[in-house]
Amino acid sequence: MDSTAIYYWLIVIGIPLAVYFFRKWLKESKRRKLYRNDFPQEWKQILTNHFKLYQHLPDDLKKQLHGHINIFLDEKNFVGYQGIEINDTIRITIAAQACLLLLNRKTNYYPHLTNILVYPTVFTHKNHDGELHRGRLGESWHRGPIVLSWQHSSQGGKNSADGENVVMHEFAHQLDQENGPSDGLPILQHNNIKQWSSVLGKEFKTLKFKIQKREQTLLDEYGATNPAEFFAVITEHFVEQPRQMLKKHPELYEELRKYYQINPVEWT
Ligand SMILES: [Zn+2]
Repeated sequence: MDSTAIYYWLIVIGIPLAVYFFRKWLKESKRRKLYRNDFPQEWKQILTNHFKLYQHLPDDLKKQLHGHINIFLDEKNFVGYQGIEINDTIRITIAAQACLLLLNRKTNYYPHLTNILVYPTVFTHKNHDGELHRGRLGESWHRGPIVLSWQHSSQGGKNSADGENVVMHEFAHQLDQENGPSDGLPILQHNNIKQWSSVLGKEFKTLKFKIQKREQTLLDEYGATNPAEFFAVITEHFVEQPRQMLKKHPELYEELRKYYQINPVEWT
């Protein structure tokens, strides 16, 4: 290879690579700084008033949550619809519920998500194809925004024991979508993929069967829609009804405990 060719390849490959790594380094150092930033007292008060689980978290998890929220608020953009004005209560309450799913593990802070659209209550939203979705509480678009009803996001934060949390539901979809389509198989850092597929597959089939037979179930019947909804629904139950889930679905609880690296039965 002559020197002209070497220069050519240096420019074509070397410069974009250097720019990529420099940007990555900048982003990571900014995140490290934000993570260590003080968490204002007023924000702690918002968490105390609007996010019931916060009071039950051990101190080290509270500290992690503060750091994650600082980064989340810097990187995500909140947009109010139908007259709703975005304020700190809305931002912190939603960010906290989203960031609870990121504790104790390596995270890239929902990398495909930039915008969170907030409606006052149930909403009708047009998708990419112009199709209208009516009566929605929340939506997570693949590589697109999350759309939330503030009324239901706020209720989810305040009531931490009913197994319903629209914010965690939609952000679980984002985690699922990080490695491609929504299929109930997120990036597994600590689980054995065979074990995950076997346990979730078996539990999904059982839920579908029980719903068809009209039997009572702990898991919400919406989880029987497809594997992606199943993952989002079990995430809500895992965080909000850990004791019941551990008792009735111990293998499922264990897979989620390994995945999320948290153990919510210890919090209450
Ligand atoms: Zn869903």
